[in-house]
Amino acid sequence: MSNIGLLINYEWCSGCQSCEIACRNEHGYPLGTWGIKVEDLGPLEMENGIEFDHIPIPTSYCDMCQDRVQAGGIPSCALHCLSNIIEWGPVEELAKRLPELGPKTNIFLPKSDL
Ligand code: SF4
Ligand code: SF4
Repeated sequence: MSNIGLLINYEWCSGCQSCEIACRNEHGYPLGTWGIKVEDLGPLEMENGIEFDHIPIPTSYCDMCQDRVQAGGIPSCALHCLSNIIEWGPVEELAKRLPELGPKTNIFLPKSDL
């Protein structure tokens, strides 16, 4: 899975934290442990107004849902994201989406030992 990544278009992230819960449930992580964590940036006073973003960030506990994927599924966070802003796939394909999705989009790579 070395060329598989997650794309997150956080411009439309509501901060609902469903991805955190979906990941925790999938892996059985205890409370206080995250495979993905939603962090807040702002509010920031900018020239064109207030900027405030929720930014979901996979942690080192993210294994790209290897078991689900090998069983034919998609990562739990992508399945349960209420805003449908998490995509999963080969990083080369995800990168092609960047120009249309805009600047508030991140691509995360898996841990190097996956
Ligand atoms: S891909 Fe799987 S392990 Fe990684 S953050 Fe999403 S739900 Fe968690
Ligand atoms: S489930 Fe989707 S919309 Fe909700 S916090 Fe996570 S990434 Fe954002």
